[in-house]
Amino acid sequence: MEMSRRTFTLGAAAVGAAAAMASPAQAARKAGKSATTRPLDAIVLGAGVSGLNAAWLLEQQGLKVLVLEGRQRVGGRVHTLFDLPGVPEMGFNSMGDGYGRGIDAAHRAGVELIEVGKRYMHGKPQELVLDGKPLTREQWAAAPFNPLPDALKTSMPWEVTNKLIAMHNPLEDWAAWLDPANASLDISLHAFLTQQGLSDAAIRLVNDVSPYYGINAYDVSALMLEFNSGFVMTQISAGPNSWAIKGGNERLPQGMAALLKGEVLLGKEVVSIDSRTDVAEVRCADGSVYQAGRVVCSLPFSTLRHVAITPGLSGAQARAVATLPYQPLSMAFLTATEPFWEHDGRAPGMWTNSALGTVLPQRFGATADEVTGLLVQARGGLARLWDRLGTEAALAKIVATFEELRPAARGKLKAHRLFSWEAEYFNAGDWAYFAPGQIASFVPTMAEPHGRIHFCGEHTATGARGLEGALESSERAALEILSL
Ligand SMILES: Cc1cc2nc3c(=O)[nH]c(=O)nc-3n(C[C@H](O)[C@H](O)[C@H](O)COP(=O)(O)OP(=O)(O)OC[C@H]3O[C@@H](n4cnc5c(N)ncnc54)[C@H](O)[C@@H]3O)c2cc1C
Repeated sequence: MEMSRRTFTLGAAAVGAAAAMASPAQAARKAGKSATTRPLDAIVLGAGVSGLNAAWLLEQQGLKVLVLEGRQRVGGRVHTLFDLPGVPEMGFNSMGDGYGRGIDAAHRAGVELIEVGKRYMHGKPQELVLDGKPLTREQWAAAPFNPLPDALKTSMPWEVTNKLIAMHNPLEDWAAWLDPANASLDISLHAFLTQQGLSDAAIRLVNDVSPYYGINAYDVSALMLEFNSGFVMTQISAGPNSWAIKGGNERLPQGMAALLKGEVLLGKEVVSIDSRTDVAEVRCADGSVYQAGRVVCSLPFSTLRHVAITPGLSGAQARAVATLPYQPLSMAFLTATEPFWEHDGRAPGMWTNSALGTVLPQRFGATADEVTGLLVQARGGLARLWDRLGTEAALAKIVATFEELRPAARGKLKAHRLFSWEAEYFNAGDWAYFAPGQIASFVPTMAEPHGRIHFCGEHTATGARGLEGALESSERAALEILSL
């Protein structure tokens, strides 16, 4: 598929600026107008999976849709480095058997799903490396410095938070997480873990060394994690598989974009959205202007907060757009010139409390035995430290720390790429998360339509998480428009 459509920009601008219609559904039914002269019914902002799916759903009902994307590629947080061995994923990894929407989207887009869960589990289990020393599970359980309560001593640090939330989830029905009756659960993860008997030292180790959400356990709402846990449990009960896209996950949004009849314009940074009584108008940084009856905005709030919206948002919605936090996460992709893990007999994967973060072996060659690369991941404060160092210094530090922890790797590592989601202009962070109190404060209302503007994107999902949540949110936004 031809992904660069910049040459179409001017033509589409002329079409887009044509007079808007009162009702998109009405306009779609208008006879006698050719596809090229008919004004746009909807402009979708952002060509991640939620925006692309919203566009497809609207087109299926006869609406004329234009997609505007700031980057020079589609996919957003589904991003594959096609030029590196094993085509490493910087974003979305895999979907479970319960991802009805994701699996359906893949079939529609004509891409092939491959099972990757067994590859994640292949080989020696990830090693715990604390203060430079490797520890087996047995050594860790018996270590005098293990700060976990007795019942958890055999758990590895990265297993504890999810285990405790799954075991003590106070949400009887995880899908009811937004019910005001559950607002009292909107406390910090730190408070939840303290209730489970963890000391501050234990919480620092199990969460803050490599946090999925925020910098430390005070940052994230336990209620969000309880909702998340319910979703994950449902996935596990749906089946044992983890599915990815053969050849690279970014092929999914590419296939979804190829299904659209309307244009997907790349390099179109949206800078303002004006919702007027008769039309919605979108302006881009390059000066182009587009009009349509409706706008579907899939922009993460981390970037939407830099877009001028008229009339301005107010109340809880304004607060949400201004303050919704996004996770710092950075990754380095390395390859090894020799399988040093065979020389020292240790696992290639490591979870460390050092400047190296977590090392995840990539097994995307012909067989799972082949390690195609080492994905090194930093979350929270460590991600910010890498970012501050800059690419060259960060990669040098990562390699030096790796070699210090694994002498067998000395001189055998090649650093290829550093990728920071927080430094990405069009994301400014990885996934959204809710701080304690934010769920009760703004989540139920933050995605409500604002005049002619409708919101979607993973951050607005209420019944699913991750990619499945992004798709779910696009269904809601499309239905809002189709039911006008
Ligand atoms: C590292 C990582 C791992 C993940 N792993 C999984 C996983 O294993 N399973 C799972 O289910 N989910 C996973 N996810 C989450 C999943 O990838 C996302 O939920 C989903 O891709 C989000 O889609 P979206 O359309 O909501 O947002 P995005 O993909 O972010 O799309 C938003 C689009 O808007 C564009 N944009 C932003 N600002 C502007 C602007 N001003 N003008 C024009 N365009 C703009 C962006 O370029 C982007 O293309 C992962 C995400 C990451 C980052």
